Amino acid sequence: MTDFSHLSIHETITCLKRKDFSVSELIDFHVSSMENGRELNAFITETADIAREKAIDSDNRYLKGEENLLDGIPIGIKDMFCTKGIKTTASSKMLENFIPPYESTVTQNLWNDGAILLGKLNNDEFAMGSSNETSFYGEVKNPWKNSKGNFTVPGGSSGGSAASVAAGIGLASLGTDTGGSIRQPASFTGTVGLKPTYGRCSRWGIIAFASSLDQAGPITRNVKDSALILNSICSHDPKDSTSSYKEIPDFVNATDKSIKGMKIGIPKEYEADGISEDISSFIEKGKEWLIESGAEIVDISLPHIKYALPCYYIIAPAEASSNLARYDGVKYTHRADAENIIEMYEETRAQGFGNEVKRRIMIGTYVLSSGYYDAYYLKAQKVRSMISQDFKEAFSKVDAIYGPSTPSTAFKIGDKNKDPLEMYLNDVFTVPVNLAGLPAISVPVGLDKENLPIGMQLIGNSFDEESILSIASCIEKSAKFDLTPEKWWINE
Ligand code: GLN
Repeated sequence: MTDFSHLSIHETITCLKRKDFSVSELIDFHVSSMENGRELNAFITETADIAREKAIDSDNRYLKGEENLLDGIPIGIKDMFCTKGIKTTASSKMLENFIPPYESTVTQNLWNDGAILLGKLNNDEFAMGSSNETSFYGEVKNPWKNSKGNFTVPGGSSGGSAASVAAGIGLASLGTDTGGSIRQPASFTGTVGLKPTYGRCSRWGIIAFASSLDQAGPITRNVKDSALILNSICSHDPKDSTSSYKEIPDFVNATDKSIKGMKIGIPKEYEADGISEDISSFIEKGKEWLIESGAEIVDISLPHIKYALPCYYIIAPAEASSNLARYDGVKYTHRADAENIIEMYEETRAQGFGNEVKRRIMIGTYVLSSGYYDAYYLKAQKVRSMISQDFKEAFSKVDAIYGPSTPSTAFKIGDKNKDPLEMYLNDVFTVPVNLAGLPAISVPVGLDKENLPIGMQLIGNSFDEESILSIASCIEKSAKFDLTPEKWWINE
């Protein structure tokens, strides 16, 4: 079978238009990669039969010259997106057998553009986690092993989404990012992860974690593909009252724009302790690349950013505790046997949720309860506005902000899951962006001493995805990161 795993979406579309190969051949290849890659545990549900059927329709469209934007492109979808008639679990026992009678708006947009669902991807339970170790379906393995040959985590919560793309299974995936769950796994797997501005994409049909922070976005192998998927998923949606009416620009165009004269801020807080040496070296290297491309580097400060993590870990659990109240055994799937209704609620929730989800529900309920609401929740909301204010001030001086995506590269499976605080520290560079509702992208730039990918982050002003795409594209060209992991999961 021909190996199509090295092709980007753009290259694949060119080949399909030229009839170098058919969509059916492409889908067969990706289905067999998905089957050969089961050891990664990236997919919860494989939809090979549906994919093969859709491939025939897509081939017909190519024959007639009636193909759409993403026609025939196999895409994996995080199991947080409802897919009509296809099991959607949020990687939780609570939704083990849930088959949604509706399709999320963003996935519907992909299918309208001709993309083909390859399967549903594993994630941390209800998207709570940074290592994909909290899933009811077990941990996902990062295709990148460290130099000692140990298995590492793919990051989380969109671990399956990142691992599959890094492994060459599917050409792209969708993830959700509430506090970094697209960018952190992208940075751990050498892929590109983009979180759009809050409101840019519809949240309708996405299983809610923290509604004021959640956004959908793509994980891809390069920046141009990321822009293309973004163009497909964005739309105004009357079913999501926070979805924006703003015009949707041609994001792909932005990836070819020069960044000459652009001002790029580097926050002094990002050069702090606790970042690995290999990662900090890319702050310096990034500066050089950006200057070579004609941009100007500006020193900036985000003074309240140090409070972002505690602020997030009050607001996100508060919203989660409210959103997850709906899983009571009456609606949706899991229901415990019990003598009376109160016992049924209690037992259902005790059985259906894993430890991390329970921890979040308890924290959330606590910070929202009478007597503690003012001390925790309201204070956190005030801090949230101060963080937004910091960004506003920064964006009065610069076009984008550059810094690391994560303080470390992928860690070993089992290394951090005993201590929740240590796990939460992973999100230190990503959560401020969600609190302020801004767009950001993680781009792979190189490997560290352990042979693990490093991702750097660009943060843009509200609804200015174009600037970060232009800059990310420049960084991608300068970094020339084109390595892929060794395919150890393929049993010959
Ligand atoms: N790791 C963060 C958390 O556990 C972010 C998760 C996310 O973005 N979904 O909350």
